[in-house]
Amino acid sequence: MAALRSYVNGDWHTPAEDGVPLHDAVTGDEVARVSSAGVDMAAALAHGRERGGPALAELTFHQRGALLKSLASYLLEHREELYALSARTGATLGDSKFDVDGGIGVLFGYSSKGRREMPNSTVYVDGAVEPLGKGGTFVGQHVCTPLRGVAVQINAFNFPVWGPLEKFAPAFLAGVPTLVKPASQTAYLTHRLVELMIGSGLLPEGSLQLVCGSVGDLFEHLTDQDLVSFTGSAATGQRLRAHPVVAANSVRFNVEADSLNCSILGPDAVPGTAEFDLFVKQLVTEMTVKAGQKCTAIRRAIVPAGLMEEVVDAAKARLEKVVVGNPSAPGVRMGALASLEQREEVRRSLKALLEAGTLVHGDPDRVEVVDADPERGAFLSPLLVRCDDPDQPQPHEVEAFGPVSTLLPYESTEHAVDLARRGRGSLAGSVVSADLGFSCAVVLGAASRHGRMLVLNRDNAEESTGHGSPLPALVHGGPGRAGGGEEMGGIRGVLHHMQRTAVQADPATLTAITGQWVTGGPQLFTDVHPFRKHLEELKVGDTVIAGPRRVTQEDVAHFAEFTGDTFYAHTDEEAARANPFFDGRVAHGYLVVSFAAGLFVDPEPGPVLANYGLENLRFLTPTYPGDEITVTLTAKQITPRVGAEHGEVRWDADVTNQDGASVAKYDVLTLVAKRPETQE
Ligand code: NDP
Repeated sequence: MAALRSYVNGDWHTPAEDGVPLHDAVTGDEVARVSSAGVDMAAALAHGRERGGPALAELTFHQRGALLKSLASYLLEHREELYALSARTGATLGDSKFDVDGGIGVLFGYSSKGRREMPNSTVYVDGAVEPLGKGGTFVGQHVCTPLRGVAVQINAFNFPVWGPLEKFAPAFLAGVPTLVKPASQTAYLTHRLVELMIGSGLLPEGSLQLVCGSVGDLFEHLTDQDLVSFTGSAATGQRLRAHPVVAANSVRFNVEADSLNCSILGPDAVPGTAEFDLFVKQLVTEMTVKAGQKCTAIRRAIVPAGLMEEVVDAAKARLEKVVVGNPSAPGVRMGALASLEQREEVRRSLKALLEAGTLVHGDPDRVEVVDADPERGAFLSPLLVRCDDPDQPQPHEVEAFGPVSTLLPYESTEHAVDLARRGRGSLAGSVVSADLGFSCAVVLGAASRHGRMLVLNRDNAEESTGHGSPLPALVHGGPGRAGGGEEMGGIRGVLHHMQRTAVQADPATLTAITGQWVTGGPQLFTDVHPFRKHLEELKVGDTVIAGPRRVTQEDVAHFAEFTGDTFYAHTDEEAARANPFFDGRVAHGYLVVSFAAGLFVDPEPGPVLANYGLENLRFLTPTYPGDEITVTLTAKQITPRVGAEHGEVRWDADVTNQDGASVAKYDVLTLVAKRPETQE
């Protein structure tokens, strides 16, 4: 059997030795061999930094986002092939979809987040401009630029597709090349995934590399610009985090490790309620999906002491229906563990758990298996443990990484929170209850030891994604034992791969650096009204000043009557005067904004297609009848949309009165057409 090749330095590298055999989790047959012998780790890292990084740096966030979308669509077309290989890891079709479709979903998720929430440029601006001097000539802003290193990912065996993709997507969007090192046990599936990704021809050379086998001396060559994202056992995570090169170079090191996730049943959720059924169903799902080899699976099911018997009976009734066997055989609900070694590991962990409790379902040494040899395949029955003394340490410390969960009783809300916290840091926890008070107390009480908390009840069950499903838009990771890291979590997952730098300068310099107009920056005045310019003709800083217009008492009275907004401050002189903020009747803020629009628009049909909103609107000074207002509208940010016939233009609007004081400030958001000949 040929050993898996690594993809490094722009080429597929065949190992310099036969390698270690990897076995089919179902049949025990050899699937592949793995070795990284002969891979030059230093050269691979250098290739990423010198080829991949610069190639990505030439693309804007939107272009990288568009590539992620194309890549996701390409992988979708090949997913059947990935499912077939995934079955050899012991996964059922449902499990494979969780892994493969979930991973592709992360690519789509980051693609759309990148194009919606990031600018179409290479610099990401973080937060508002901070005034640093009274005169407005010295200001500060945070900008994020990609680290000029390689995002090294060291992955666990349980998600050979989702694992690499969930880390690749945010790194790629940030502009940082990736080097994937899959867990050996299931490396053949990640290997095929990377073959497809490279074969798609979509990715710039050097932006993705693969090392199958051990990492060799890779850690010796890490620099301050590289990152490591590790998923696996806490022991390995701790060892690698303490590597002298990691410490000396302050290498960003993210760990996602053992997690004793809990699910808590509310006291209201007695048998017969929707929540009782949801709890039991979710528990059994989490025990059996991926044969329980999920970092987010429920390890501790915490239930009201008075409901222990009922929960045991209901869970057993469901578990008895779980058919174990060859994942390709019809009717099979749960496949095999990833390897025979993994099964031994789970049996060892179960033994430790049984020092504190008793087995109420399953037998670790015997399982009825459909269409497979129970000994050659890594099969195990679902195993439910009951521990009546929840103060025993084992359930809160031993992670049996398989179809294993422990039921623990609680006496009060505080007790439930205390038990949840005893996991000493978890990726995910859930509360199943329709009692808002209980759910709030548990979420807020346990949150500081959780990366994610799910509340499940009859109102959200239909749409709920469930306890065990990380989502790219939300934090995945957790404190303490779970590793102390954060993967994904929307744009913050991208920013993890970037350096945030405070730039202190004058407005013109800051405008040039960020590509976004900063108050006090240069304004451009031309004979052509900015609303008559297509996207390509507009420049950041293009400005129109319009007005003045006098606001009269009749205007205010008419606006009040016309809109129905007869709030006393606009209609009752005496009452308005009694208000601490006003010296009499004032114009409506919305009237000021409407007049401003009436002043700055160029009314004829033209490239401006629509106004789709205002942001950051603040009314700063009251406008009294008799005041004269002037508006200054400046193009602040121009965002062409890849593949669209238009782009977005954000305008800075500053409405001032006759004394030059700002009465309203806001951003106007518009859609502006590209020139017909450049429309893609
Ligand atoms: P390991 O920690 O042994 O391996 C995880 C990854 O680290 C693999 O890619 C492995 O590669 C690599 N690795 C191991 N040793 C080194 C080293 N010295 N230097 C560099 N890389 C190294 O975990 P396992 O995959 O064996 O899983 C064991 C346990 O981890 C599970 O039983 C479970 O408890 C926990 N786990 C937790 C997860 C979570 O997210 N909470 C997810 C998966 C597992 P190789 O395979 O080539 O050795």
